[in-house]
Amino acid sequence: MPGVYRLRLPLPWPGVPHCNAWAVSRGEGFVLFDTGMHQPGSMEQLDRALAMCGLRLEDASLLVCTHSHTDHCGQAADIVQRAGCELWMKPDEGHMRRMVEDREGELQRRIEVARTSGVPERILRRYLQERGNVEPGIAAAIEPDRALLPGVMVETDLGAWSVHETPGHAPNHVCLFQAQQRLLISGDHLLGRISPYFEYGHSPDPVGEFLESLTVVDELGARLCLAGHGRTFTDVDAHVQGNREVVAQRLTRVAATIETEPLTAFEVVPRAYDSILSAANGPWLLTETLCMLTHLERIGRATRIEGEPLRWVAH
Ligand SMILES: [Zn+2]
Repeated sequence: MPGVYRLRLPLPWPGVPHCNAWAVSRGEGFVLFDTGMHQPGSMEQLDRALAMCGLRLEDASLLVCTHSHTDHCGQAADIVQRAGCELWMKPDEGHMRRMVEDREGELQRRIEVARTSGVPERILRRYLQERGNVEPGIAAAIEPDRALLPGVMVETDLGAWSVHETPGHAPNHVCLFQAQQRLLISGDHLLGRISPYFEYGHSPDPVGEFLESLTVVDELGARLCLAGHGRTFTDVDAHVQGNREVVAQRLTRVAATIETEPLTAFEVVPRAYDSILSAANGPWLLTETLCMLTHLERIGRATRIEGEPLRWVAH
């Protein structure tokens, strides 16, 4: 599609080898949607991807970020400095800032959540050792020049893009929609591969928020989705439906594990997921399980039994 460029940028994560930034022409320059992660050589990678499209970062007239995860806003501080442009993003609840400015505190918060969820001390110690050395993937904490909220329009040569709040994957996630072309910049709300991810601890019910956000996107009637990872896809409504089904299946499986006895989230994980638990997928599966349990509680299918550790039982 003329004037739309996919910038495929590398990631250091197993199973997620790249993310997409999108450049959309505007006058002499372009609007850049998302940034790629900040890591050694990442700015050169962005320059190279832009050069392959005949673009230069200096000609970006606006940076728009779909949400404040490292692979979508990690290079924002460097980009706005080089291009001299504004950053528009929905303000986050401070978790990105904490990751940069209070890394120790943020790690401790995660450790506390895990401990309360029944994770044994030896695993917590290993997590701290490994994560303590990992770079956060963000050049610097940065405040948006403009809050990306409904009502804000992003002008491009293709037309104006409207802003739609889609929390769930991240509390400050938004999608952008171009109504005449029926194009959706979906960030990580909708991906070609159906693998929802939820952030825990920053909003009351990430799974419930995600399900509502699916309805928001479904009603837009997009015909082409430009996602934050992977290729574009056209069957947007099938992806919405696929996500609903995956969430419903996982809720059912999680609920089944706590039918006969109260369990901690840590005990639920191996019973509800076929994957073998490892240091790589453990934190992710625990986070998702906590989000599922929280949602089950919200919709009246489970009760939390306060205590140390916290347990859950279905009813
Ligand atoms: Zn992402």
